[in-house]
Amino acid sequence: MVTLSRADMIVKADYVLKMDTDLTLIRNGAIAVRGGKIVCVGPAEGVAGTYSADTVIGGTGKVAFPGLVNTHTHAAMVYFRGLADDLPLKVWLEEHIWPAEEKWLSPEFVGDAVELACLEMLKAGITLYSDMYFYGDAIAGSAKKIGMRAVVGAGILDFPGKTARTIDEYFTNAEKFINNWIGDGLVVPGIAPHAPYTCSPETMIRAKELSGKYGIPLHLHLSETEWEISEIRKRYGKKPVVLLDGIGVLDETVIAAHCVWVDDEEISLLAERKVGVSHCIESNLKLASGIAPVVSMLKAGVKVTFGTDGAASNNDLNILSEMSTAAKVHKAVSGDPTALDARQAMLMATRWGAETLGLGSVTGSLEEGKAADIVLADLKKPHLVPLYDIYSHIVYSMNPSDIGTVLVDGRVVLDKGELTTADEADILQKARGWGRKISPAHSP
Ligand SMILES: [Zn+2]
Repeated sequence: MVTLSRADMIVKADYVLKMDTDLTLIRNGAIAVRGGKIVCVGPAEGVAGTYSADTVIGGTGKVAFPGLVNTHTHAAMVYFRGLADDLPLKVWLEEHIWPAEEKWLSPEFVGDAVELACLEMLKAGITLYSDMYFYGDAIAGSAKKIGMRAVVGAGILDFPGKTARTIDEYFTNAEKFINNWIGDGLVVPGIAPHAPYTCSPETMIRAKELSGKYGIPLHLHLSETEWEISEIRKRYGKKPVVLLDGIGVLDETVIAAHCVWVDDEEISLLAERKVGVSHCIESNLKLASGIAPVVSMLKAGVKVTFGTDGAASNNDLNILSEMSTAAKVHKAVSGDPTALDARQAMLMATRWGAETLGLGSVTGSLEEGKAADIVLADLKKPHLVPLYDIYSHIVYSMNPSDIGTVLVDGRVVLDKGELTTADEADILQKARGWGRKISPAHSP
């Protein structure tokens, strides 16, 4: 008789998408999880012949895939969702968002808001996200409490803000935050100089040095609008990507959000330096910033991933819809219906996302030795039958409401669509409370 090895849990599904280099798809598959890690993944019969567990979840009518990765957001901005829509970027930012941030930002605000953002993201199958904001300890604390994996970039600006009056103070705060969180199992600290138009080349170099000192990601906005291109050219006589490359900032530790206005020379540089690009299609569309040349970037070998950006410019945190929107928009603008197909979109939303955030060996695919960051979705839905191609269904037809179970690091953080790590009603109640304070006339 064969002695079975013990696992903490076995996850079963009709379809298991490994998202490994061969894009292996397992029919009637299973994943054995032990100590937070995947110890075995393969056909259910094979896994059952090797591992046993008291807890078996999933089963018929389910699909399992790696947790989705949101490579660019400002999670706490969920509290500004819908506060100011349908406005030009400059008016939106300068007359609405910045004044609201100046008035309301605090560790309490950010901590409460990030709980809501993490709840929203987990319900949409996102298990890892990359944040750029202020009050990093509050962000990291809430992400950890809710049980999400997060890369938290400490925001840096050249001008005074709520958290610092000088550039030195921003960096002192950032280094303190990095030391508080480095080595944590779920939260990776990072450094986030906002953009080339809000951070001087000297500030960028300083941020790069800090990233190098601790071996942490550097997260920035890059070439988001046409205005930025002319502004940087006016100030420095260069295009933004060329400017940053000239001062040695660009390499594989960099996550560059947007890259809407990049030409062929800049695309080659991004590919050569192995910069990870976060494509934020819905935010770019809503703010009419333009459409990033994603097809050209992919062709040049740039690792393009998906970001939601903040909920004030999206207005949700949903990578399923980013995949669907991007796949459709890039077909339309390139005139090529084969562009950005469903498998490519899934790869960008999973393994490439994790790799871009420096966590490629930890998560992003369902492979033995990696963390059990797993999404289980229900296929018994009107919009998901019949089923010919599972990748197509996930990218073009699936909604967050189809997602019932989410594991992060082997822990069930979403069970039957409900959060297990905190009280959902309480998180919603706090959000409504802040909404009433921010705009008493408009909030119930
Ligand atoms: Zn952003």
